[in-house]
Amino acid sequence: MREDFPVPQAERLVGNFGDFNSDFYDDSFSRKGGSENKGEVITDPKEVLRRIFEEYSTESLANELEKSECDHEILKIATEAVKSLATEYGRENFIALTDDHVHFFSDGGVAELTEGRLAVGSHATVLGEAFVDKRDNLSTAITTFHELWHTLASHNAIQIRTDGELDWYRSGFSILSRDGKTKMFRHLDEALVGHATKRFVNEVLRGRPDFAQKIEEVEIDGGQVDTTRQRELGDFLKYLDIVLERNSDDFSSREELLDMFMRAQVTGNLLPVARLIEKTFGRGAFRKLSEF
Ligand SMILES: [Zn+2]
Repeated sequence: MREDFPVPQAERLVGNFGDFNSDFYDDSFSRKGGSENKGEVITDPKEVLRRIFEEYSTESLANELEKSECDHEILKIATEAVKSLATEYGRENFIALTDDHVHFFSDGGVAELTEGRLAVGSHATVLGEAFVDKRDNLSTAITTFHELWHTLASHNAIQIRTDGELDWYRSGFSILSRDGKTKMFRHLDEALVGHATKRFVNEVLRGRPDFAQKIEEVEIDGGQVDTTRQRELGDFLKYLDIVLERNSDDFSSREELLDMFMRAQVTGNLLPVARLIEKTFGRGAFRKLSEF
């Protein structure tokens, strides 16, 4: 078993504590405006992160919907499934994420919150929270699972950036450079979260009468359930086919390769994948994949 997490929202905190600039966080502790906290300076980044997770992230947003009993049930189904699947890929401990870290909005709320960057769901590693647009129960459950996979199942690390700001450092397979300027493996990470979400739909939701009926309705005229990030997953699977073709002595199926990537996404250990990719395509190939 791992040691306790250094901060409540991530399993690693990297960077130089001496770089930490507490000025960035003076007013961030309350969603209500923060004037009551003005002037308060906390110089310990761990304490800042603890307060962000326990006090800021759990506070409701102005346009957030109050959760119904059904919403809590959806959260429970998604959380249990995330934990069960992530355990298969090597996760041993989970952050203690209560329902108030997940914020539900009416349709269009997440787009508004992220200024159009994201459509129906979003997550924030430093905050330890997720944002979901409430639609029909099936779509809501799928998006909730996807965002919870980022928050709960993925290897999460936070950094004190070289400019002193707190930011994410590792989010599953993806990496943010130490100066905060370069994101690597973003699409690959989303493809893997898309794969986990597809498993959730096929292995959990299809087996539940309360969701199976809606799935049937969607599929009746050849329609498809949106299991999230299908384009990224499709592109990635094509890439895996080539990897498989060139490593047919060591791997018998694409599934086996996919499991290897999923394990890296959940545990944060990218080395086995890096070695395989460099062996398959030559030196520099893993770096090239980071732009995928
Ligand atoms: Zn995502």
